[in-house]
Amino acid sequence: MNLTKQALPLFENIQRSIFQTLNSLKSSLSQTQQAHAHILKTGGSNDTYLATRLLSQYANHQDFDDANQILSSTLEPTIFSYSTLIYAYSKQNLFTQSLRVFAQMLSHGLPPDAHVLPNIFKACSGLSLVETGKQVHAMVFVCGFNLDSFVQSSLIHMYIKCQNIGDAHKVFDRLAQPDVVTFSALLAAYARQGCVDVAKKLFNEMARLRVEPNVVSWNGMISGFNHSGHYEESVLLFQRMHFEGFTPDEHSVSSVLPAVGDWENPKLGIQIHGFVIKQGLLEDKCVSSSLIDMYGKCACTWNMSKVFHEMENLDVGACNAFVTGLCRNGLVDNALEVFRQFQSQGVELNVVSWTSMIAGCSQNGKGIEALELFREMQTAGMKPNNVTIPCLLSACGSIAALMLGKAAHCFSIRRGISDGIYVSGALIDMYAKCGRIQMSRLCFDRMPSKNLACWNAIMGGYAVHGKAKEAIEIFHLMHRSGQKPSFISFVCVLSACSQAGLADEGCKLFDSMCEEHGIEARMEHYACMVTLLGRVGRLEEAYNMIERMSFEPDACIWGALLSSCRVHSNVSLGEAAAKHLFELEPTNSGNYILLSNIYASKGMWTKVDAVRDRMKAMGLRKSPGCSWIEVKNKVHMLLAGDESHPQMAQIMEKLNKLNMEMKKSGYLPHTDFVLQDVEEQDKEQILCGHSEKLAVVLGLLNTPPGAPLQVIKNLRICVDCHAVIKFISSFERREIFVRDTNRFHHFKDGVCSCGDYW
Ligand code: ZN
Ligand code: ZN
Repeated sequence: MNLTKQALPLFENIQRSIFQTLNSLKSSLSQTQQAHAHILKTGGSNDTYLATRLLSQYANHQDFDDANQILSSTLEPTIFSYSTLIYAYSKQNLFTQSLRVFAQMLSHGLPPDAHVLPNIFKACSGLSLVETGKQVHAMVFVCGFNLDSFVQSSLIHMYIKCQNIGDAHKVFDRLAQPDVVTFSALLAAYARQGCVDVAKKLFNEMARLRVEPNVVSWNGMISGFNHSGHYEESVLLFQRMHFEGFTPDEHSVSSVLPAVGDWENPKLGIQIHGFVIKQGLLEDKCVSSSLIDMYGKCACTWNMSKVFHEMENLDVGACNAFVTGLCRNGLVDNALEVFRQFQSQGVELNVVSWTSMIAGCSQNGKGIEALELFREMQTAGMKPNNVTIPCLLSACGSIAALMLGKAAHCFSIRRGISDGIYVSGALIDMYAKCGRIQMSRLCFDRMPSKNLACWNAIMGGYAVHGKAKEAIEIFHLMHRSGQKPSFISFVCVLSACSQAGLADEGCKLFDSMCEEHGIEARMEHYACMVTLLGRVGRLEEAYNMIERMSFEPDACIWGALLSSCRVHSNVSLGEAAAKHLFELEPTNSGNYILLSNIYASKGMWTKVDAVRDRMKAMGLRKSPGCSWIEVKNKVHMLLAGDESHPQMAQIMEKLNKLNMEMKKSGYLPHTDFVLQDVEEQDKEQILCGHSEKLAVVLGLLNTPPGAPLQVIKNLRICVDCHAVIKFISSFERREIFVRDTNRFHHFKDGVCSCGDYW
């Protein structure tokens, strides 16, 4: 029906209709097709003008197959025929196709004109093909467009987008009369790269040439400085803008607020908030979201909630900022509650909303919730992106959910985002935390280019696996590749040395850090060194190092010494460390337990009692041991002495059987690590309840024989569990990976990768 209606005018005055159709911006695709049919029928297809008009119509309707067909069947295509198609492709960001048509055009012997070139530069920048861009740049010279301001400014934009700011500036310097747009683009680029002085010089140059900056020039610099971490510059520029009589608009405010937040300067934030209210900018959604974000970063949760709740219309950007702000301040439960409210209120949540919530859970120790949210997200039909996947992978790593982590890896391959630098870095980390260090290495080796985070991730992975040799190897490899190590790199490699007891190697690295790399030793490095020396029994040396520190040692340092004293049953230094710890963190029950364990190992039961009484008097309880294990794509959490798990009866039965077997083979339980001074029989019972053992047995019951198991524990693994799991690994012929707070234990054939040294 519709078609006949549209076709009627064609029959009335065919020739005229065809022209009208071909020249109108409103012609439909079917009208174009009808016109095409008539042209073919009447033998007009050799007319280059008609063919080009048809091509343009098809290209406008994104019917690229027909457009290409017309181009290839046109006898004498003109520059206009090609540029029409190139333009249409560029508009749709189909840059590869743009360049293909451009190559066809050149091979037809047609030189580019001032209309084609900007589209080609856009394509080159879209594909980051700076070399191709340079070749076309040469053509600009040959064809004499080096004075065409339109072509030149597109060239500058290309170089800027390809991060080649030096060449952009060279082109810029040859401009006869740079305009405000080009100036602004170059200024913003320098600001984004953090070249404060050059940007300022250029800005003065602009004044000298009497080019008046506009709001865009200011905004580009404000957001550029913020992007490159020059928060103060960003804020100063905002103030200067205001001072020089330019009224900051909503973009200026949304650009400066993140800088205020990152600078953590709530006072200034409140002032800008006042300005926002005065200017009536509060209704702008971006401004409100930036305010929420700023208050979140400044830990002003009260102001943050106030801005959010006073918003008249709920906007998804503000909702996301609010959720992120709550999570950032550790209020992840509130964030979850708010997130659920948004869902029930029908707020159209986007991929950022889901990703923020998943990231919040993952960063706040709620790995299981993060995985649950990801499932929900998929059910809701929301496609995860290259930010969601790293958050998900880090959640998988934190609870050693290897199967789910692998599923996320497959997912990222299917989506074609597995090679991105963030996803790759997260994969390295996830596999390492799930006990598969070889897989981490595979992911690492496959990366075409590596950033600092990836180098650190693989070294950190080797460190928790106690593979010091490999970590040091990577460290040297990184050095040779030209990547400078950061202080984190040294934390990774030093902690690897400490896990493996490579004291001399570690000391050498520690010295080279300050002397060769100019990195000052931080608290983390000292903690590694104390552990390193402590582990090999050089406790006095460790203690002397602490004494020589130029700043006050924190609880981590004394904790490292205390743990080492526990390993070597050193009462006097243990007491010294504990004294400091009881002052620094009086409510951390772990310290009291470590000290009492030192006493217990020497049979000093009166002292054990004294520590226990002190804990009791302060109302402290041993923080419950807790372990996680993934069985059939579900993560189970087991608490020490907790009987609520539905399979608990089976677990106890299996554990008793294993105990009998162990006794037969001459195993004696290590009862010194039970805090209470109770009867031997009871001690054994208490040891049985340790969560890591329960988790391992749960794994044995629910997986096929021979399948490897992985367990994580929130505390350090105890000597007894370590011995029991070693036995299980040989008796049941299983590989068992246990990650405690400190490192990985890989049990196989009755031995552990740590060499009983942790
Ligand atoms: Zn245990
Ligand atoms: Zn071990």
